[in-house]
Amino acid sequence: MAYPLLINGNLVEGDATLDVINPATEQVFATCSRGSEAQLNDAVAAAKAAFTSWSETSIDERKQVVLAMADVIEANAAELAQLLVQEQGKPLADATGEVHGTAAFFRYFTTLSLDVEVLDDSEHRRVEAHRKPLGVVGAILPWNFPLLLLGFKLPSALIAGNTVVVKPAPTTPIATLRMGELIREVVPAGVVNIVADANDLGGALTRHPDVRKVSFTGSTATGKKVMEGAASLLKRITLELGGNDAGIVLDDVNPKEIAPKLFQGAFWNSGQVCAALKRLYVHESVYDEVVDELAAIANNTVIGDGLQQGTALGPLQNKMQYDKVKEILDEARQKGTVVAGGEVPDQPGYFIRPTIVRDVAEGSRIVDEEQFGPILPVIKFTDEDDALRRANDTEWGLTGSVWSSNIDRAYALANKMDAGSIAINAHAALDPSIPFGGSKQSGIGSELGHEGLKEFTQLKIINIAR
Ligand code: NAD
Repeated sequence: MAYPLLINGNLVEGDATLDVINPATEQVFATCSRGSEAQLNDAVAAAKAAFTSWSETSIDERKQVVLAMADVIEANAAELAQLLVQEQGKPLADATGEVHGTAAFFRYFTTLSLDVEVLDDSEHRRVEAHRKPLGVVGAILPWNFPLLLLGFKLPSALIAGNTVVVKPAPTTPIATLRMGELIREVVPAGVVNIVADANDLGGALTRHPDVRKVSFTGSTATGKKVMEGAASLLKRITLELGGNDAGIVLDDVNPKEIAPKLFQGAFWNSGQVCAALKRLYVHESVYDEVVDELAAIANNTVIGDGLQQGTALGPLQNKMQYDKVKEILDEARQKGTVVAGGEVPDQPGYFIRPTIVRDVAEGSRIVDEEQFGPILPVIKFTDEDDALRRANDTEWGLTGSVWSSNIDRAYALANKMDAGSIAINAHAALDPSIPFGGSKQSGIGSELGHEGLKEFTQLKIINIAR
């Protein structure tokens, strides 16, 4: 059958099947294998068996495998991008960028090393810090960037010497399963395993006694379940969760110049980005101009099927998210003024036009909750300290941004924002060499960069007395 599981180097038909819907048409576009719990256990057993030899290979050998995977992904970029568009909804250019970005992330990790660090080499002792692999890693993915987020986890886990069981999101397993078929030729059996589910195997993977670490990206609510599931065996966890990221626009900006960047920060992937700009605080002196510029861009944005040329934004990825965003939109109409978008086109597909809401404040869902969709609330402020307090007054802390023509002013404010990453005159500039992680309930630990690689290792000290 098409889109089998990858278990122990074999392409395995699932014990059941899973229909995957194209969110632009609401029609089933592919049917893939769905693993049972027994098949998940087979995958963990294969990863455990493969760990013995994989962890003993040199880091350079492991890097060669990761580079070969990057080559395979790149060589099949056109096919993988088409699949991504159909399962995720994003425009083809973005999907193509995601596939090439994934390969680039794989390659980036091959430039890092995990050399032994000598902490002391004196007359009385030599102390060395080693970075050892952990064992089997469970990688659990969401549906917004199925391949790119795999690029956060898989290459770093492998280079550190771990073996992996990947579980894609149930609404976007296709590109990942196809990638599994393609990389099978270049990865030793059992080192990478992929099991798709119907949202029913994440808990079992998390609790499995032979899984030593869970690398999870998804919602805060599910992240808490992962933490609970990992607690009994004190497993290592990395949690990349939700956010309600604020941007603060000071009175000295050029609204025309920053508006396209603000728009991109909020609406990329139809707002379905963990680190998207989700609340925009704008100083009263430039408020009307910033709102008008954003509204003009929103009104000129073409939405549609990602495979159609000219589409700038695709649909919401799934019905549940679509319904949630529509509810938030309905409330936003009561609590603020919609100045662009707000329409849900009467056509198949989970489409919502990019929406700008003004004269809105805390106490409405669009400001207080993570919308994870194409609606941006623009909130007026008078006093910078007040804007800072309101930006920080949230349980989340993934990213944030400050916008000003005076870098010193912006820097002072950025320094006081409580989040894992703050950008100045940009929003969430993602790069594989820059560690990424959240504060408060946006996550635990970080991915990417050398920090991210180290999270897939156990620190081990060897202390030699002399
Ligand atoms: P989700 O939490 O519903 O699902 C994520 C994954 O967890 C899926 O693969 C799902 O099958 C699995 N899962 C479900 N129940 C589980 C359980 N009990 N134990 C373990 N795994 C389980 O999230 P989603 O709807 O797919 O993604 C949207 C959310 O993800 C948003 O809140 C967004 O902010 C967040 N997100 C965060 C980042 C980040 O890097 N911080 C990136 C992308 C998305």
